[in-house]
Amino acid sequence: MQGPKYLSELPKGRCFSPITVRVIRKWTHHDSSGQGVPLYVGMVLADAQGHAMYAEIADDLIGEKACLFDVGKVYVLKKFVVNNAKKSYRAVDRNLLINISQHTTVQVVPNPPSSIPEYIYRITPLPAIKPVRFVYNYTDTIGYLIKYKAAHTFVPKNKEKAKTLREIYIKDLSDNVMQVTLWGDQATGFNISDIYDREAGNLIVCLIVGCYPREDLMNNNKPCLSGSPACSCYLNPNIPEEPGPFKCAVTVVCITNTSSWWYMACRPCKKKADQQIDGSYSCPKCGGYNTAPRYLLHFIGKDDTSEASFLAYDDEAYQMIQKECEAVVNPLHKREGLPQQLQSIMNKTYILSVDLTDESCQTTKIREYQVKAVLERPSKRPSTHRTTAAYHDPQGPGSSTALIATPPSHSEVLQIEYPAQSTPVPASQTDHDAPKDDRSRSTTKHSVARRRLLREGSSPIKHTAGGDDEPENTQPSDTDTEDTTPLEPCPKKAKSDTQTDDATASQE
Ligand SMILES: [Zn+2]
Repeated sequence: MQGPKYLSELPKGRCFSPITVRVIRKWTHHDSSGQGVPLYVGMVLADAQGHAMYAEIADDLIGEKACLFDVGKVYVLKKFVVNNAKKSYRAVDRNLLINISQHTTVQVVPNPPSSIPEYIYRITPLPAIKPVRFVYNYTDTIGYLIKYKAAHTFVPKNKEKAKTLREIYIKDLSDNVMQVTLWGDQATGFNISDIYDREAGNLIVCLIVGCYPREDLMNNNKPCLSGSPACSCYLNPNIPEEPGPFKCAVTVVCITNTSSWWYMACRPCKKKADQQIDGSYSCPKCGGYNTAPRYLLHFIGKDDTSEASFLAYDDEAYQMIQKECEAVVNPLHKREGLPQQLQSIMNKTYILSVDLTDESCQTTKIREYQVKAVLERPSKRPSTHRTTAAYHDPQGPGSSTALIATPPSHSEVLQIEYPAQSTPVPASQTDHDAPKDDRSRSTTKHSVARRRLLREGSSPIKHTAGGDDEPENTQPSDTDTEDTTPLEPCPKKAKSDTQTDDATASQE
């Protein structure tokens, strides 16, 4: 009889069959807001299916068992107990946990399979982070570093021991800023000197897991994050590419390239053909003369919340327009304005699968989405009015027809489903491949991962050194309060003599 092999298969009760897991995180939870005796050692374990589970070593076994586990290493566990998970403060959103028992055997795996993930997370986008009184799950989030302060220590009121903390500030590309307070080893261990090139001003992506959402009492009770004992802050995490662009309902507002919505392309290579002196076209790649016009449509689209720029290449533009480009272009009959076939998509609502263009990921000056697929077209019914659809007329037919209800958006980009914000399933475990488009796919895995997780790609850092180590003066980075000093490590300053009320971001 074969027992469970993976975390997802574990039933409640004693488990004797071996499971292979990586220790993703490990922390000690102390009594009395981190000041008292160790209560337990918590761990996040992950298996080759990409599933994760919380595991706990009770206080009486810490001395014997905790030293058997190192973060990052892979182990074969046997003889442990599966119980109901705690209701609150969960590092992993599962209903079960693993209790390491006195009899649990722990065997390190020398050459572990690379399919076991190194990070476990479930991203909450910055605008969705709200302070709550009862924390069911710890919050994980991601952003790029814009500012950090020096680590400093203080003695909380009515406590004996000093605490060390450090505030860092992350931002998404919708300019939402979040203050994150790191504590203890996370505060002192935070160091960007190995990964930050001041000359290049490179982007530092922070994946921060295991936080409490709090109110920042020093800053109009704005949401902030405070690291829990289970917190980890990963800088430039090497996260595998997650498949798939995202889906949104887009109403076409206007076509922006009214005179250049098509180009002459080489039929075999689909490359842009160059016009010759005699007016004919030839392909710069293959030298051929077999050319045909193709769509290259730039348009403004909107949903319930905002507008954005879109780009549709020929295949997708054809799906929207429902006419071959060749049939719409009449080279002998160039006229002002858009042909009727293109006007007919105005004010129509499409369900599109979109992704940021590569250019949008390289600079914040451009933010354009590429249509990757047309998932749904508007129904044929309103098409009887299409000849009267006025150019860029918001009152035109179909403007209020949303095909799917979109939830309210907090970001300035179009409301988008967040389909894959959790730890991706390892590649070896997936049986589907995301359709690749060589025109739009980034060549580096890293930037793709950043794009997926930030939802909007990369951007230059606004450099702000953390010269100020007073928590009271915390100013979450508005342009007027920032200087342009590049990020650099700040000298540690001890403030052990200060009595500070630690209500802003207490550890428990
Ligand atoms: Zn060619």
